[in-house]
Amino acid sequence: MAGVRSISVFGATGSVGLSTLDLIRLNREDYTIIALTANGNAAELARLAIEFDAAIAVVADEAAYPALKEALAGTSIEAAAGADALVAAARRGADWTMAAIVGTAGLAPTLAAIEGGRTVALANKESLVSAGAMMMAAVVQSGATLLPVDSEHNAIFQCLAGGSLDQVRKITLTASGGPFRAFSLDQMRGVTPAQARSAPIPNWDMGAKNQRR
Ligand code: NDP
Repeated sequence: MAGVRSISVFGATGSVGLSTLDLIRLNREDYTIIALTANGNAAELARLAIEFDAAIAVVADEAAYPALKEALAGTSIEAAAGADALVAAARRGADWTMAAIVGTAGLAPTLAAIEGGRTVALANKESLVSAGAMMMAAVVQSGATLLPVDSEHNAIFQCLAGGSLDQVRKITLTASGGPFRAFSLDQMRGVTPAQARSAPIPNWDMGAKNQRR
């Protein structure tokens, strides 16, 4: 695509956010950065905002605002804090928004970005799980493009490339790993939530709720 694209990264200090910025670094001249956000990690957010010359840096946790403001002193980068500021940043209309805040805190800014009618890359599956119907209605209404980033969603998306949904009879999702991957059906009958919970997950605490039977 010709021209410089404007980008916002929500959850810029997290695993997905940092990977996104790694990619942007590879072709830095093709992008301008509008908003970068974090929850409370003001120091890292300010470092990234300065490196990428963002227009605005937002921390969700208002207690982190003084540190962010101080770290950005002497730059032209705006600092802001709080849930409403996240939504306002999402309304600035980036061509392409990465929604990589963890948990349902990502819902409101993601929805605001969708309402802008541009492209939203969705890592934050929690927003889809908690408010999928509302989000998809907003996508239809605004004409936004919603790109799935999460692995299973993206795998299905890639399988559908070049085809259309009415050519699909059935989608089968297999488990991608976990402690019970090699278990037989018989062995599965005896597993407990405690066993599932003890499985090591590299960078994410799944929490007990996900494993309830
Ligand atoms: P991380 O925990 O690494 O990063 C989370 C990001 O969200 C950080 O920038 C964090 O800021 C910010 N954040 C945390 N809480 C809040 C809040 N209450 N309000 C606003 N911002 C907040 O998460 P990941 O990058 O691993 O995951 C991000 C999303 O992507 C999740 O929805 C996850 O399910 C999904 N995902 C992740 C994958 C992965 O491999 N990591 C793969 C597929 C999907 P701070 O640094 O200040 O805490």
